[in-house]
Amino acid sequence: MVVEDIRKRMRAIPGMDILLAQEWAAPWIEKLGREAVKRVFNAELTGLRRQMLAAEGDGAPIPAGDILEHMKEVCLSALARAERPNLRRVINATGVVIHTNLGRSLIAEEALAAMTRTARGYSNLEYDLENGARGQRNTLIEELLCTQTGAEAALVVNNNAGAVLLCLFALASGSEVVVSRGELVEIGGSFRVPDIMTFSGAKLVEVGTTNRTHLEDYARAITENTALLLKVHPSNFRIEGFTTAPEREELAKLAHERGLLFMEDAGSGLLVEGESLGLQGETSVRACLEQGVDVVTFSGDKMLGGPQIGAIVGRRAVVGRLRKHPILRTLRVDKITLAAFEATLRLYSRGDLDNIPTTAMLRLPPETLRKRAEALAEKLRARVSAKVEAIPVEDAVGGGSYPERPLSGWGVSVSGHPAGGAGRLQTLLRGQELPALCGAREDALVLHVRTLQPGDAEALVEALSRLEEGAGKEAAAHGAER
Ligand SMILES: *Cc1c(COP(=O)(O)O)cnc(C)c1O
Repeated sequence: MVVEDIRKRMRAIPGMDILLAQEWAAPWIEKLGREAVKRVFNAELTGLRRQMLAAEGDGAPIPAGDILEHMKEVCLSALARAERPNLRRVINATGVVIHTNLGRSLIAEEALAAMTRTARGYSNLEYDLENGARGQRNTLIEELLCTQTGAEAALVVNNNAGAVLLCLFALASGSEVVVSRGELVEIGGSFRVPDIMTFSGAKLVEVGTTNRTHLEDYARAITENTALLLKVHPSNFRIEGFTTAPEREELAKLAHERGLLFMEDAGSGLLVEGESLGLQGETSVRACLEQGVDVVTFSGDKMLGGPQIGAIVGRRAVVGRLRKHPILRTLRVDKITLAAFEATLRLYSRGDLDNIPTTAMLRLPPETLRKRAEALAEKLRARVSAKVEAIPVEDAVGGGSYPERPLSGWGVSVSGHPAGGAGRLQTLLRGQELPALCGAREDALVLHVRTLQPGDAEALVEALSRLEEGAGKEAAAHGAER
């Protein structure tokens, strides 16, 4: 296109006033407000001008036809994007149950009801109704947590990282903390035991080697400045082969003989025995305490299946010291979270693990998953021309929890879809109005059924069929051009 043409077309770009006066803009101005609509138009106008200027240089495509028509199209889709919440629901077809990037645990129905109730009305959050005096928000869940873990006392904070921080601040600031080199973990890139240690003013004393640490290593590291022996759940990795680590009982005995505390960051924190979730060889919080740990911290939104919270359970005297520490105020749990946590703990009290989405998904038997995969495959076959097959897959607990033990699951593989291979389909499905995250195996898209929620399977069928139609139209258009 010659420069003169571009100039002409630049002049043809409608001004802001013209755009705002368009009939199609009116309902959006009503809905989003004039200023917000203006911001969207401005961005689109700038984009279009830039596109035209670039075209002058390297020949990037300029929209053909009526510029006002073109602006209507781009502005309407920009307005729809502007209206959409930034935090959106997505479909998790990855089979990773506790997916940190997708919000970890889903909240149980009863917990949702408690959250709504608590958000909508006033509550006795910090009010002792019996005595008509100021109360403590932590007392609302302490008894339930103690019952579920066998602890003498309990406290909750914002998350497990905060729980570890509070413990180190209150129990070990200015003192030494002995940790095995095999447990110096980094979780999700942001939680590193050595960093938290430095921040709290505690001094990290590493013992043993990555794969082997002996009781003797801990014993030799203890000095008059030692405050704590710390055990950390190596949540997201596993060292296999030639390994050894002392038993909890041995560490507890050593700590107590030398007048020290024994603390454990249990990471995910199991409130039931691992077997009831299909996970062998994992120690529950109750068992940790029984084996002599003085204070255990864990997350609320991992295996427990509740809201984001950091729980601290243990001996009364120890938890008492935490309660008095000023940093506690900065790690405070809000009332809506507390309501959800209490409701989730009550489900545990009733042994109702099937009404807690995370534990329910972990417990799904392969046979149920196979039937779901086959039903989804059948629905898909009726709507798309791609090769669709129900296949056994490996799911994962996730959330830095037990990566070494895949869960046997079922999924649906989709290959030969007209819109493209696995990578292309993953991108297209992420871009849908209801975005979906899916797995892949070689060049097949894999939909893991374990983590699908009600309605998700139907939405996936719709999306894949829409993408097939879209691909068909595109092919037809290309054909017509030729
Ligand atoms: C996940 C995890 C944490 C961090 O817990 P958050 O609740 O995400 O703060 C800390 N330690 C271990 C061992 C973990 O697995």
